[in-house]
Amino acid sequence: MPATVRLFMCIKDNFGVLLHDPATRRTAAIDVPEAAPVEAALRETGWTLTDILVTHHHGDHTAGIEELKARYRCRVVAPDGEAARIPAVDETVKDGDSISVGDITGRVIETPGHTAAPATLHFPSEKIVFAGDTLFSIGCGRVIEGSMDEMWQSMLKLRSLPDDTRLYCGHEYTMANIRFAKSIEPGNKALIAREQQVAKLLAEGKPTLPSTMGEEKAANPFLRADMADVAKAVGMAGATAAEVFAEIRVRKNKF
Ligand SMILES: [Zn+2]
Repeated sequence: MPATVRLFMCIKDNFGVLLHDPATRRTAAIDVPEAAPVEAALRETGWTLTDILVTHHHGDHTAGIEELKARYRCRVVAPDGEAARIPAVDETVKDGDSISVGDITGRVIETPGHTAAPATLHFPSEKIVFAGDTLFSIGCGRVIEGSMDEMWQSMLKLRSLPDDTRLYCGHEYTMANIRFAKSIEPGNKALIAREQQVAKLLAEGKPTLPSTMGEEKAANPFLRADMADVAKAVGMAGATAAEVFAEIRVRKNKF
């Protein structure tokens, strides 16, 4: 039986996510920005929280962990390199480790850059990836604890996922990211198509996720820093992909 995903908003623009295995009835929250919206989603679905899988240590992804753990006695799994900064951790995982929610098994992809050792969680059988604040739809996270080169390497790891992988991430930033992406690739047809799709979803009050990795590879400038057209668009023809990536990321910070 395929996993079921429940997506909802937390705080202001954070996404909360529940991943449910119908066979074993185990349910994981991927990050907990705050407890109340997670509990509301549990009430609406009738699911019981058994696991919390943490992508990275930032407070807007971890603030609700202790409250939920106290109530549900759930297992908290966090990236090994950041566990000291995450509350109530039971188990740690590193790059390449497997991670499971009931019978659903995924794999940890360490994607440094936004933070030192965040865990991107890929569930191949479900064609789902949870990228935290590393990759957003048509954007990527700020490079805070890692180097630009590390973040570009993380982009390459995520770009290697199959096109039909559904992308879930930490924030509803998609439309702002599209506005910026158009400043880099105004003629990108996949980007224009995504803009129309996102405008419609937002007008209907719906989340803009999940997207697919295929859509992201075609339209997300941060995954496209090694394309000759993108290098040319930022006046850096002949520069390395990591240099072009860094230039795009710096421009986004100022946009
Ligand atoms: Zn973050």
